[in-house]
Amino acid sequence: MLFDQHCHALRLDVGDLAVFESLATETPHPAGRGSHLDGPVGFAVRRWCAPLIGLDRWCDWTSYLDRRNELGNEEVARTMLAGSESGCLLIDTGYRGDELCDLGEMERLAGVAVHEIVRIERLCERLAGEGSAATLLPRFEQALRASAVDCAGFKSVLAYRCGFDVDLVGGTASQADIDRWMRRGGRMDDPALCAELIRIAARVGGELARPLQFHVGYGDPDVTLHKTNPSLLTPLLEWAQPLGTQIVLLHCWPYQREAGYLATVYPHVWADCGLSMHYSGPSAVEVLAPFFEMTPHTKLLYSSDAFGLAEFYAAGAGQFRWALDSLLDRWLAGAAIGTDEAVQIARNVGHDNAAALYPHVV
Ligand SMILES: [Zn+2]
Repeated sequence: MLFDQHCHALRLDVGDLAVFESLATETPHPAGRGSHLDGPVGFAVRRWCAPLIGLDRWCDWTSYLDRRNELGNEEVARTMLAGSESGCLLIDTGYRGDELCDLGEMERLAGVAVHEIVRIERLCERLAGEGSAATLLPRFEQALRASAVDCAGFKSVLAYRCGFDVDLVGGTASQADIDRWMRRGGRMDDPALCAELIRIAARVGGELARPLQFHVGYGDPDVTLHKTNPSLLTPLLEWAQPLGTQIVLLHCWPYQREAGYLATVYPHVWADCGLSMHYSGPSAVEVLAPFFEMTPHTKLLYSSDAFGLAEFYAAGAGQFRWALDSLLDRWLAGAAIGTDEAVQIARNVGHDNAAALYPHVV
């Protein structure tokens, strides 16, 4: 069984092809020519998901949606989650949560343990409406500590809010910074405040053994891609190391090498391949390979980063298993590793590393 250490919940109201397509992309914009399903993700979904609902792998999308609607969203969700063969899901609840199932529904549909990952910027945005600017940061820390009782870890979307090329360790957020953001309201995207939230989360995470995840690289057009190179996080990683905070670099494409390097040289840093597996379709083997170039297999993690579409749990898992098997077969054929090593690598990356990183949820 896989340990899916980062995903989101799913939607139970997917009916027509337009909605399906809108969830099968990271961009809110139209494809420009053709459909987003013409991309690698369309191949990955049909390859792994069509057979799970009794269809030919390369059926057309109209037939796929017809069959999906015949079964209904709940049945499709149960089938795809079971098809992923994941024994544990860590779910980021901080993005478009009102459109998605709650954790209880996810647990019921998946039939396995699910645990929450708390998105720190979203938590602060919620708290802003519940009290004064003067108490915002103490209330944030208090809420984070309280959430740690039930959650598996914390997550930052600094990549989406400011990018990584901001000063994360050089100072503290002033009351003037907090007042200015509170007057403006809305998204937490003030660089000084974002940095302060991250430092608090790193401190609390270190103390309570809750890893801090960062979105890295590929995402929706809210990111300016080159500002999400994880190498830019180096000062923060060094600052957090004495705190004992475990830091997880999520997704990482196209910075697999940078993330793998950081996971290699810092004992508290981990690299994850989620999202990139289903979005790279036929190229998943080439996308996974750079993670392994220098990095010990004890520091790499699997996740699906499924969001919205039930298909992504199964497609992410299928793609990962296929890509990893292909790499291991190649290494075995070249006598670069032995059979025992191949088994150990698959166990570690698919499950055991995450189980070691989140011992309180297994
Ligand atoms: Zn995600």
